[in-house]
Amino acid sequence: MEPLFTPEQLAEIHAYHLPYYVRAAVDPFAKVLLLALLLGVLVRPFFRMATSVAGGLERGLGFLRTAPVSRAFFQAMDRLWGEAGWGAAVIFALMTDLFVKLIYAPVDVWFAYTLEHRHGMSNYTPAAFAWDLFKGHLMGAFAIAALVIGMYGLARRTRHWWWILGVPVALLMLVSAALDPYRSRLYFEQEPLPPGALRTRITELMTQADIPFSDVLVEKTSVASRRLQAYFAGQGPTRTIVLNDVIIQELGEEEVLAAVAHEAGHIHEPKWPGRIASSLALVALLFAIDRLLRRASTRGWFGTTRFADIRTLPLLSLILFVVSLVGGPIAGTFSREREREADRFALRLTHDTDAFRRMLVKAARVNKMDPEPPRWVVLKGMSHPPIAERLASLPTP
Ligand SMILES: [Zn+2]
Repeated sequence: MEPLFTPEQLAEIHAYHLPYYVRAAVDPFAKVLLLALLLGVLVRPFFRMATSVAGGLERGLGFLRTAPVSRAFFQAMDRLWGEAGWGAAVIFALMTDLFVKLIYAPVDVWFAYTLEHRHGMSNYTPAAFAWDLFKGHLMGAFAIAALVIGMYGLARRTRHWWWILGVPVALLMLVSAALDPYRSRLYFEQEPLPPGALRTRITELMTQADIPFSDVLVEKTSVASRRLQAYFAGQGPTRTIVLNDVIIQELGEEEVLAAVAHEAGHIHEPKWPGRIASSLALVALLFAIDRLLRRASTRGWFGTTRFADIRTLPLLSLILFVVSLVGGPIAGTFSREREREADRFALRLTHDTDAFRRMLVKAARVNKMDPEPPRWVVLKGMSHPPIAERLASLPTP
């Protein structure tokens, strides 16, 4: 078998991945330092600024409090927060978020735009890139405002907020996979795969695997990226098979079927242990946060004056970061094992090892995968086994 990459290609791939590895090694320390700076120094001035901005808005727009329609909104917010003062809390949260984003912006843009273009992986125009970046940040800002009002508001009003919030959110997590098909449409156009040989063969393959689905869609990601991509979204009646336009262009019919067969392998894996474990972990995490917030308020950390004071928000970021740092290697180990099993499933379904190998080789070449990333990068939480390992584990003819 010819080697996966020529020495020149391999050198380019290493040059492409090296910055990612450096970032992966440095980022945990940078992040902790930045959050320590926020907590130790900046929380107090930021909070003073947020309070005075909110006061200014109150003076300028105070008439909205009594105007016929907006009055209801203000009353609802006061009730959700338990008192007046939610404006300063939301502004404080958005300010700290913006501060972190601005610090990270040069590095983020360099990685997502400059580096990807340098290695021919991105098709973004500057305008489209900026627009998607803006959309992402805007959604993030809404999520933060909702978190502040929802979680902090609830915590301020009821003692048992952590399970009142945790149980429904955990239940939502259990069903949220059904909403998946609608998420990616925020970014890319999708249209049904036209009738033809490929569609017919995918349908036959799914019948053979006994997997119901509603449609096969082609997602036009090539406006942004040159990567191959295939995934199943939703479940049961909302399940859709999503192939991107790059995969349709780059892979032959058998190879597309190999990729679909791999994705089909993920359908049969037991989902409930993972879902139940993450739901329990969420409730436990909220309980731990509750204890920590109580301690922060009794000791007056970061200038806090009461329980669920918004000034503890960067502390939550720190906790979530540590949880993800510890959880990443564990989740990665499970994920890589599921990927190995999906590969084995695909081979049992199609009996076409050769097409599966060609599919992996093309995916590795088009997506410029590092065939053998450093061991620590894998262990830190890579979702898939290195491509060289996947190829090596295929049965030899
Ligand atoms: Zn997979």
